[in-house]
Amino acid sequence: MTEKELELSCTDCASAGCGKPNGNYPEFCPTKAMSEADHESAAQTYEDDPFALEVMRAASAVSAAGFDRRWCRAEETIAFALQMGWKRIGIACCAGLMEEGRIFARILRAQGLEPFGICCKVGSVPKGRLGAQASCCDVGEISCNPLLQAKLLAEADTQLNVVLGLCVGHDTLFYQHSEAPVTTLVAKDRATAHNPAGALRAATSASFYNTMLKPNDSLGIKL
Ligand code: SF4
Repeated sequence: MTEKELELSCTDCASAGCGKPNGNYPEFCPTKAMSEADHESAAQTYEDDPFALEVMRAASAVSAAGFDRRWCRAEETIAFALQMGWKRIGIACCAGLMEEGRIFARILRAQGLEPFGICCKVGSVPKGRLGAQASCCDVGEISCNPLLQAKLLAEADTQLNVVLGLCVGHDTLFYQHSEAPVTTLVAKDRATAHNPAGALRAATSASFYNTMLKPNDSLGIKL
């Protein structure tokens, strides 16, 4: 496919003019394509949804304070929960990050919140029962169980669930099935001490990760 045939979208934009009111929009820009009525309707969507509006208010306040006070993500998560009036905080924790889960629970308690954690291996269901191939058991026989995590956190009446290092795909199911709203504290990345943005930046430099930019057939990101 030539560059011309590519479907251009925001990730191809060099101006990011939507974030600065300077009207610097590329031809393919969805903001440029919006009419006055579209702008009005985009704002109205939040005004019609009191919960969404409350979350937006809280998120904006937390983000501004976080900039100002150099909060880490854990601090912003706590500030968000406090701003929303949520005390009961679920932690959907990866079995490989239980120490981080324990520390986060201690921090939540220290800040007057009520943590309730559920480990991803809860239920001890063998991987074979959940469709895994035998070779997947080389890294452990017990499956992650995001549906049970979501169910048990719902039964515990958590008001906000925090994902702490769930695997890619297992997190997909957890986000889909969580009854409480979800935010992410840790995005699992086994290769980079859970810093996926670091690997993305490294992909354009002399690093092991620049193979990700090579054509798909030479890459080997296949099972
Ligand atoms: S909305 Fe428009 S200006 Fe903003 S990133 Fe997308 S293309 Fe760029």
